[in-house]
Amino acid sequence: MKLVLFGAPGVGKGTQAKLLSEELKIPAISTGELLRAKIERASKASSAEDSDIELIKSYVDAGKLVPDMLIGEVLKSRVDMSDCKNGYILDGFPRSLSQAKLLEQLNIVVDKVVEILVSEQTIVERLECRRVCENCGETYNTEFKMPQKSGICDCCGGRLIRRSDDSPDTILQRLKVYRTQTKPLVAYYSDQKKYFSVSGDDGGGADQVKRNILKVIGESI
Ligand code: AMP
Repeated sequence: MKLVLFGAPGVGKGTQAKLLSEELKIPAISTGELLRAKIERASKASSAEDSDIELIKSYVDAGKLVPDMLIGEVLKSRVDMSDCKNGYILDGFPRSLSQAKLLEQLNIVVDKVVEILVSEQTIVERLECRRVCENCGETYNTEFKMPQKSGICDCCGGRLIRRSDDSPDTILQRLKVYRTQTKPLVAYYSDQKKYFSVSGDDGGGADQVKRNILKVIGESI
């Protein structure tokens, strides 16, 4: 199974990718996390990991899409790893028509594509309150998913921070990118009969959203 999860920033793709990964026993691959890890590694190393890091960071901080050539390399080296041989969940890739075509050039045929839908107003509220562990990436929310100890990750004890691209201006920019560059994927994958959508905000919580995704993709639990 090669499953694509997409949706605007803050709809809960990362949370769902992790839950589905446990359920379906295939890895979840977040291109955003891969990029943040790459930037973090470079900031800790005395010399830059590669010359593209500054460029990648400038796109991420501005809430814009990292150029296809750079993100394509990051994705390719991850899906070539041995844990991906039985399939994987792509969280945040493709994010444009050109990236959907890039997948095809890489001979990656996705089986199903699920969009998680949440209103823009809810997204803005969620992202303003989002905190992430700088160590393991676990996500929290100052309103409805607080850690047991303030500012500390329950999973690994890492420090909770606000993502640099969760600032109000960058949130609006990322929503615009989603509307203009990512939304055309709906028609693209609908034509291929691979597109499904679920509400990410129906009041049932993350587990209910997960069950709804499994239902639309035809996986029973
Ligand atoms: P995310 O963690 O999915 O919200 O992604 C954070 C940021 O990483 C995005 O705003 C982009 O700058 C970059 N990014 C993640 N995935 C992609 C992608 N498929 N193509 C281009 N840029 C990406």
